[in-house]
Amino acid sequence: MTQTETPPVPDSQSVRQTESVRCVDCGSDSVINRGPCKLTSAIDGLPEYEKQLINDRGAGHLYQCNSCGLGFRFPQVSEAELQALYANMPTRRWKYEQQTNTAWQLANKWLSGVTLADSKKAKLLDVGAFDGIFLKSLGNTWERYAIEPSANACESLEELGVTVIDRFLNPPASEYAELFDVVTLFDVFEHLRQPGHSLSDAVQFLKPGGHLIVSTGNCAHWTWKWLEGDHWYCHPLQHLTFATPSFFSNWAVQNDCRVRQMAPHSHHPGKFSKRFERVLETMVWGGLKSNWLRPVSSLCMRIPGLGYLRHRATGPYAPELADHLFVVLEKGKAPVA
Ligand SMILES: [Zn+2]
Repeated sequence: MTQTETPPVPDSQSVRQTESVRCVDCGSDSVINRGPCKLTSAIDGLPEYEKQLINDRGAGHLYQCNSCGLGFRFPQVSEAELQALYANMPTRRWKYEQQTNTAWQLANKWLSGVTLADSKKAKLLDVGAFDGIFLKSLGNTWERYAIEPSANACESLEELGVTVIDRFLNPPASEYAELFDVVTLFDVFEHLRQPGHSLSDAVQFLKPGGHLIVSTGNCAHWTWKWLEGDHWYCHPLQHLTFATPSFFSNWAVQNDCRVRQMAPHSHHPGKFSKRFERVLETMVWGGLKSNWLRPVSSLCMRIPGLGYLRHRATGPYAPELADHLFVVLEKGKAPVA
């Protein structure tokens, strides 16, 4: 199913205008409450600090800003709490293989077609590089740099010959400003408290005409209309903000950038039969929130193969559906004097 094949939206009694909450990024008070979020119920294997935060903070609500298009969880955990979470994260967490991350495949394809302005080895900075599987896949074609908070992951990056220039994304030190041809952020946007501000920081690392590549969840995808704050992408506490196509379009205009590519993609590849199963799960689970669809959903949950949904505490995990966005933004060139 693609973005254009949008099934009917179930009733959502929780969607209402909210006066007291402002957009975490642009500050607008024109926000919609899309309902309560749920957090993962599988917390047994998580670090103690994370378990404690989950128990203390709860899941918050999912909001959407009418001004900049951003989706966000509110309230959020504090910056200090987030930094402590990432600094202590073991590298086994969120470990992906190159062939199972569709964003990396799209980026590799896009980068292989890039014509660079000069013949010197091009410089690429990966923000949130983790243990460097994407950077490794680039080989020696690129001079590779990283920003990475996990001490554990930094060791792996240095073993690969990657230069780690900072632990967190901040405006660049003078020696790194306008140094890079490409800056990438894979599965990072959703961890940012103010993604619009952070992308503006990221662009400062780029040469004029350089490219910023971002991949993250898209809360305008049809599955969010069915699941809202119970979408699988809301289940991790660290997922704070959620992009939409309009967010990137607005941001590009305000930051002198041009959208070169914006494509929906899935987090993992999946066969048609698996994607069909995920569509069914999403609609059956989402239907439970609607007065008129609930009887149909309850009936469907008696079907062998869907019966397991009766025992779930949170919405279905469906990474094979195209609920992510791959975006390439080109930084504006300085006007000729
Ligand atoms: Zn906003």
